[in-house]
Amino acid sequence: MSRFWSPSIQSLVPYTPGEQPKVDGLIKLNTNENPYPPAPGVQQVLAGFDVDRLRLYPDPDSGELKRALADTHGLETHQVFVGNGSDEVLALTFMALLRQPKAILVPETTYSFYDVYIDLYDIEAQHLPLTADFRIDLEQYRQPNGGIIFANPNAPTGISVSLDEIRTLLDHNTDSVVVVDEAYVDFGADSAIALIDQYPNLLVTQTFSKSRSLAGLRIGCAFGHPELIEALERVKNSFNSYPLDMLAQAAAVASLQDETYFRAHLDKVMATRQWTTEALQTLGFDVLPSHTNFVFASHPKLSGAELMSYLRERKILVRHFTKPGIDNHLRITIGTDAEMQALIDCLQQHPSL
Ligand code: PMP
Repeated sequence: MSRFWSPSIQSLVPYTPGEQPKVDGLIKLNTNENPYPPAPGVQQVLAGFDVDRLRLYPDPDSGELKRALADTHGLETHQVFVGNGSDEVLALTFMALLRQPKAILVPETTYSFYDVYIDLYDIEAQHLPLTADFRIDLEQYRQPNGGIIFANPNAPTGISVSLDEIRTLLDHNTDSVVVVDEAYVDFGADSAIALIDQYPNLLVTQTFSKSRSLAGLRIGCAFGHPELIEALERVKNSFNSYPLDMLAQAAAVASLQDETYFRAHLDKVMATRQWTTEALQTLGFDVLPSHTNFVFASHPKLSGAELMSYLRERKILVRHFTKPGIDNHLRITIGTDAEMQALIDCLQQHPSL
């Protein structure tokens, strides 16, 4: 803390991302990265990139990427926004759409970055509990509000709500913005992008970090009615005109061009998730039904903290949250088959399992 800091920064509690340790032989299942490389077209476009072009600023509007995203999802380009990772897209969304006179509604257990933005922008928020089986119950969200945001599938639980549940919420909630964070949607849930043309208050955010294996390039996007997108553009252009660099824009377009590679690798992750879930259940774990590239699991005999340290000592990194209610769970990213087999082998050797 310093007397030179802006007053509101003194009490700020920043988001803590998962660790990125540089340890040889580590099996890293803690930050929901994809174990497979990006589509081969990404390698080609980066290898063939004319470095001389870096003298120039990138396209501030990311026009080509917006066109490619619009084509991918059957939308118009003015329904598309892009930013430096979906974290930035979400930061701009909170600023542009969720700073309202009434309290916004947000799940009590969800992506912990939301509460950081809520504090940063001094937003009033009402946190709604998950059900006993860790689901988001959208019926609870049918009450006066300044906006609604939730992740679908939710994090860190991995559980999704159906498109019908979202549609019913939108039918009841027509006077404020509903933001659906679909960071993990490609791993088996249904995207609310299908509802955008019918509901002018729906904003959907997505990322290239998980399903497209591009976490290192920081590419996020949002889809919604042109008026919502315009609000995001206004804030973006009051903050940073060039959030996406040239390499990120080119790589993102190349990734979108290879649908076959994309689908094949999603299928691989989902198949690995299936057998990993079964293997964990055989060891006595309770595993929540996941539509993401991670599973959220707990064991009746061992605490989450104990299990995390046990695995860590054996060079397997998973994520453990100390938040009450979920502090007995581990969030385990789905890696390659070999990585998940190593995890299961290691757990099998635990004396209490
Ligand atoms: N939303 C959720 C629910 C997430 O788990 C993450 C990843 N930490 C993000 C958004 C942000 O992802 P990125 O900034 O890499 O696009």
